[in-house]
Amino acid sequence: MKQICILIPTYNEQEALPYLYERLKRIADQLTAYRFSFLFVNDGSTDATLAIIHNLQRQDQRVGFVNLSRNYGKEVAMIAGFDHACGDATILLDADLQDPPELIAQMLEYWEEGYEDVYAKRISRKGETWFKKWSSKKYYEVLQKISTIDIPKDTGDFRLLDKKCMEALKEMRESQRYTKGLFCFVGFKKKEILFERDARIAGATKWNYRKLVQLAIDGITSFSVAPLRLSAFAGTSILIICLLTLLFFVFESIFLGKAPSGTASIITVVLFLGGIQLVSIGLLGEYIGRIFIETKNRPLYFVESQADSIAYQDHKPRKIG
Ligand code: UDP
Ligand code: MG
Repeated sequence: MKQICILIPTYNEQEALPYLYERLKRIADQLTAYRFSFLFVNDGSTDATLAIIHNLQRQDQRVGFVNLSRNYGKEVAMIAGFDHACGDATILLDADLQDPPELIAQMLEYWEEGYEDVYAKRISRKGETWFKKWSSKKYYEVLQKISTIDIPKDTGDFRLLDKKCMEALKEMRESQRYTKGLFCFVGFKKKEILFERDARIAGATKWNYRKLVQLAIDGITSFSVAPLRLSAFAGTSILIICLLTLLFFVFESIFLGKAPSGTASIITVVLFLGGIQLVSIGLLGEYIGRIFIETKNRPLYFVESQADSIAYQDHKPRKIG
């Protein structure tokens, strides 16, 4: 029987977890052709999330968990999940039920047809501010234009990944992670499903604008060197214009006997160039900072405790600690 692992990164989701578990159980009971397991990654929650997961694990042998040593953020929680998930396919799901688990049946159908990465694309997002929707739309438009790989817009992390994709994703050990881009980077046969994104069932979003901007910058700088080219391009254009002006001044003073006018214009040009240089240095710094962090090659996360789901006991011995 094919084994499907449902992977759920969770951070302070005590209100949502009971609903989520009920919905998942119902779906697993309906789809009897598969053996399901539910893998929760507890990303350093400070509320009762871990206790709830422990309880679920005691009641239901399909439940496994990985308890990280602190809050690392969703991107790292996901790679921790990839490392521990085993199954013929893995389904990545948010804990807050914004991604309807009912789509799993359809994802599995496409998977059986041979697709290796079946992702859900949202046609609407409920319970989110117009500003979040608008900024996210614009961001994906820009990202699409400047990056070397094709990152589909309006697509979150809700998707089914074949074992092959999982193996590929596990090899991506960079520490500034933009997993949405990595899904595209690894390739494989993709299929999209459209859905309406619901509002959170309970609790509050863990993203604030600072974190979102950080993720947005990671997205652009890990998949594109376009910003670097932009500053080089702007610098070159300015240089050419300055050269032409200079030639003009020389021509003027030699042939027309006029001295170039005004120190103000010179100061402006100097300041302008200074500005361009600063921007370029800033951008270089951004990439060099990344090189610095990547070369440290630290482990991405540490596990405090874990339990595998029973369904996989025959593949992997239970490890605690
Ligand atoms: N999450 C996590 N670590 C974090 C923040 C979030 O594992 O530091 C999980 C969270 O529990 C949820 C998923 O990532 O299952 C998506 O988070 P959220 O709903 O806050 O994001 P949004 O849907 O608002 O983009
Ligand atoms: Mg959410």
